[in-house]
Amino acid sequence: LETPGVVTRFAPSPTGFLHIGNARTGLFNWLYSRHHGGKFLLRIEDTDKARSTQPAIEAILDGLEWLGIDWDGEEVYQSRRAARHAEVAEALLASGNAYRCYATAEELEQMRAEQRANRQPLRYDGRWRDRAPSEAPEGRPYSVRIRAPRDGETVIQDEVQGRVAVRNSELDDMILLRSDGTPTYMLAVVVDDHDMGVTHVIRGDDHLNNVFRQLTIIRAMGWPEPVYAHIPLIHGPDGAKLSKRHGALGVSDYRDELGILPEALFNYLLRLGWGHGDDEFIGKEDAIRWFDLGGVGKSPSRFDIKKLEHLNGHYIREASDGRLAG
Ligand code: GLU
Repeated sequence: LETPGVVTRFAPSPTGFLHIGNARTGLFNWLYSRHHGGKFLLRIEDTDKARSTQPAIEAILDGLEWLGIDWDGEEVYQSRRAARHAEVAEALLASGNAYRCYATAEELEQMRAEQRANRQPLRYDGRWRDRAPSEAPEGRPYSVRIRAPRDGETVIQDEVQGRVAVRNSELDDMILLRSDGTPTYMLAVVVDDHDMGVTHVIRGDDHLNNVFRQLTIIRAMGWPEPVYAHIPLIHGPDGAKLSKRHGALGVSDYRDELGILPEALFNYLLRLGWGHGDDEFIGKEDAIRWFDLGGVGKSPSRFDIKKLEHLNGHYIREASDGRLAG
C-alpha cells in the first residue's frame, strides 16, 4: 500500500531515558508511515531548558536505532525554532486571532484565588480580550493569547478514541508567547507539525485534551488539520499507570541489564495495544505489512514482563538456530 502523502512524527521530550511507553509511540508512528510508504520524522522537544539534557537526547537516538526504527532526514530540534514560533504568534496578532494580555503575575494569582474561593474552574477570564490597544500600560511586558472560540463545541474524530468533543466555553484564551517572548508548548507543537508537513499525529492519550487547544491555533491559521490517533497509555500488572515501582522503564534497561533482544522488545511493544489475530511472533516485515490504526485497542494495555521474556526466549533460540544452520 502506497500513500506517499503520509507523514508521521515522534516528538519526545529529552528529559530522561527513552521510556518504553514513548518507544511504543515512536514504533507505532514509524510502522504507520512505513506501511503507507510515507515519511517518519523525529522532533526533539527540548524547549524545557532546565530539564532537557544531551545524554537524554542520545538515549532517544540510540534506543530508536537499537530497535531498528529509522527516521527520515535530520532530526528537528524544537528549541532552535523559537523565532519561527514567535513569527506565527505575530501573524495571529495581525489577523486579530490573538491579542496582547498585560495582566501581571499578581493580578492573575488574585484572579485564581477568587476562582478557587468561588469553586470555579481556574481559567483565564479574558480580561484583555476586548480592550483597545490604547489601554496598554506603557512599557509593561505582555503575553500573547489566542482568541479562542467561546460558543459551540470543538469535535474531533480520533482514529482510536472515536468522536471526542469539548464545549468551547471550557477552553480559555491560552498563552502562545510568554511575556519573556518564549513560545509555549501548545504553539511550538502546532507550528512544528505544520512546517514539517505532519499528516497524522499518533501519540499517548495523555495528550488528548491538548488537541482542542491545538486545533484553535490550527484553525486560526487556516492550516490543514492532521488526523489524530491517541493511544491508551501502558499500565502495570496492577492496572495503575506504568511507573517506577513497576520496575524497569527505560529501553536501555531492557537492553543492558535484562538481556532483551531488540526483536523481542520490538515485537512486545508492537503487541502492547495492537494485535493481529492470535499472532504472537511478529517480525519487522509483517509488522509493516499489517500495521493499522484500526487494530489499536481503546483500553490501556498491561505490561507483562513474563510475556516479554517468553518472546525473548523465542528470538534467542531463533538466533542460535540461525548460527547452527549457518
Ligand atoms: N513532547 C511530548 C511528550 O513527550 C509529545 C508531544 C506530542 O506528541 O504532541 O510527551
